[in-house]
Amino acid sequence: MTVCAATNNPGKLRELRRILQRMGHTVKSLRELGIDLDPAETGATFAENAQLKAAAFCAASGLPTVADDSGLCVEALDGAPGVYSARYAGRHGDDDANNQKLLAQMADVPAKDRAAKFVSAVCFRLPGDRSLTVTGECPGTVAFGLTGTNGFGYDPLFVPDAVGVPGGGTVPNTQRRSYAELADGEKDAISHRGRALAALAAQLPAFLSQSEM
Ligand code: IMP
Repeated sequence: MTVCAATNNPGKLRELRRILQRMGHTVKSLRELGIDLDPAETGATFAENAQLKAAAFCAASGLPTVADDSGLCVEALDGAPGVYSARYAGRHGDDDANNQKLLAQMADVPAKDRAAKFVSAVCFRLPGDRSLTVTGECPGTVAFGLTGTNGFGYDPLFVPDAVGVPGGGTVPNTQRRSYAELADGEKDAISHRGRALAALAAQLPAFLSQSEM
């Protein structure tokens, strides 16, 4: 199926594209579709924001649309930055400032209290008004410093509890590598986005067959 990948975030687009293509879909970016739109993320939850982005971009593209809303929830910060992850330090999408603010907020938090999870809500929407929303989570911890150069956002600060292995499965992240130190497949197998898209793939056939009735 040809789907619109509804994101203006280049890092997220790369991941949506590679995971959805691996699942056999053809992915069109907003740039490829000539869509210049930045809907306000006014929802109180990841799911609400994913749904409002999917609705806006599906209307604009006329294509089945996949939108992700995601973020990092840190236990010691009562779940912050959460839905405000992209604009934690004030300016939307300023990854460096967000990482520095997170490090500063966590400066006095000991290793045992640095638990966090990444959360992704993915909304798949068909032209018309039918949609399917799924979520994925990845547990881990917030590091004491930035490591690695792959990925985007908080990747250099987030140490997942497990990593994917080539050929399938996961192993404990004994080397404590950050998301930004993982190869694409190692991240996709355990990431919040990878897990949400796997849930979407599992539920999509039933959802589509209902849509045809
Ligand atoms: P939004 O979903 O567009 O509101 O933005 C999500 C924000 O969460 C991004 O700007 C990143 O800061 C962060 N984020 C979401 N997923 C990831 C990821 O896989 N790695 C690192 N940061 C992420």
